[in-house]
Order: sequence, then structure tokens, then C-alpha cells
Amino acid sequence: MRIARFSIDGNVAFGAVEGEAPDGLVLDIIKGIPYADFELSGTKVPLSKVRLLPPVLPNKVVAFGRNYAQHAAELGNEVPDVPFAFLKPTTSVIGSGDAIAYPSFSNELHHEAELAVVIGRMCREVPRERVKDVIFGYTCANDVTARDVQKREKQWARAKGFDTSCPLGPWVETDLDPSDLTIQATVNGEQRQLGRTSEMIHSIEDLIVNISEAMTLLPGDVILTGTPAGVGPLNVGDEVAVTIEGIGTLTNKVIKRG
Ligand code: MG
Repeated sequence: MRIARFSIDGNVAFGAVEGEAPDGLVLDIIKGIPYADFELSGTKVPLSKVRLLPPVLPNKVVAFGRNYAQHAAELGNEVPDVPFAFLKPTTSVIGSGDAIAYPSFSNELHHEAELAVVIGRMCREVPRERVKDVIFGYTCANDVTARDVQKREKQWARAKGFDTSCPLGPWVETDLDPSDLTIQATVNGEQRQLGRTSEMIHSIEDLIVNISEAMTLLPGDVILTGTPAGVGPLNVGDEVAVTIEGIGTLTNKVIKRG
């Protein structure tokens, strides 16, 4: 099932995406929240009539770095033996169709297409064999990075945590085998990144075991799993799209920060 979060006439709701793209998509409005048992209301609205919102409101976004060998190499970095994580704040999260605001303190903004895992239940110290039980679904992410700031500041809080630096969407796909999916990024329709999730160095199981040793994960929390090779610049006016096989396309335009 594909679950979107949206607003219509000032009301916010979750809905199950049904029908065929591009014109036939409708949202069947969900009663309650999708992480618990929920019912479909049967009330349907055309997707074209709503504004998509970030598909989840995470308590935290945990992002893993250097999880594809070719990407680590393109930036001159070693592949780490163990996963390493950083946090992106909730204020960095935007949805598909929202604008990425170019930060004033950077001159080198990069896209990073990533598979995002959405957590479905509160958990900590998750054993490897239980990881699948704590996953709600998957969505597309863009770990937008001020690369120049990342290079000159030891911690990445500003480089990867500025407002609008975490586009997520367009919806969460709950029925998906994530082990070998095409993941790509285009800028203004031109392909920049292309990889497969099977190229990850540390698996989704590894990443969730690793982070849940340290912190409790809550329903709606998001884990970014690293980016394949081909990262590159974003400029004001560009439209960046992240597409993952079996999920859909996350599209955002870059604007000057007002
Ligand atoms: Mg990244």
C-alpha cells in the first residue's frame, strides 16, 4: 500500500494512494494514524486536488554516510568498516513539490538520492532477525548537502541540517522488497545519479541494528541509507528528482532563501 500525507482545504490527513498515474490517482482517506491498525474511510479525493506533505512527521531523521563504495571514492573518502550515523533535524523535512531553499552560507549545494526507511513501531536494541518487524515502509529522500560547509566544519549539523535539506516523499510504500531497487537522481531532467540498493555496503538490517543500539526509534522515524555515486551541484532554479523503483518520484525545486 502507498500511504501519503496531504492537506486539502486546510485539513491534514493520511490517505492510501489508489488508481493509475498520472491522472487517475486518488487518495482514500485513512481513519486514524497509519502506524496502528487503521481503516480506509472510503472517502476519496483526487491526488491532483491535494497538496502532498512530507509522508511522515519524524521525531528524528537518522542518516548514514558513505554506504556506497563508488560514492565514498568520488569524494576521496575511505569506506568505513562500521556504519556511521548523523542526525538531520525535523525542521529539515519537506515534502515532494516543496522548495529547497539555498542556504546563505553555502556556495556548493549537492543532491544525494537515498532510500529512506520509515519505522513503524517503538523499538530499541533491535535484533537482526526482528528488523523487518519494525519497518513500516520506504520512501525517497534527498540528503541535500552544503558540500563546502561539510568540508570545512567538523560536525555536519549546518551542512546537512539546514531548513529544507531533507525532502521526503512522495509517499510511503509499505509492500516492497528493498534489497535490489534502482535509485536515481535527475536535475532538470538530466540523469546525475544511478545505482542499485544492492550496492549498499551495510544492509538496512545492519543500519537499524547499529542505530537502535544507541537510541530508541519511534513510529515515523526515518533512516537514510546513503547515496550512490554521481552527487553533484544544485543551483537556484534547478528541479531535482529522486526516483526509486517501486516507490515513485520525489521532486523539488531549488529557490533562493527568502
Ligand atoms: Mg547522504
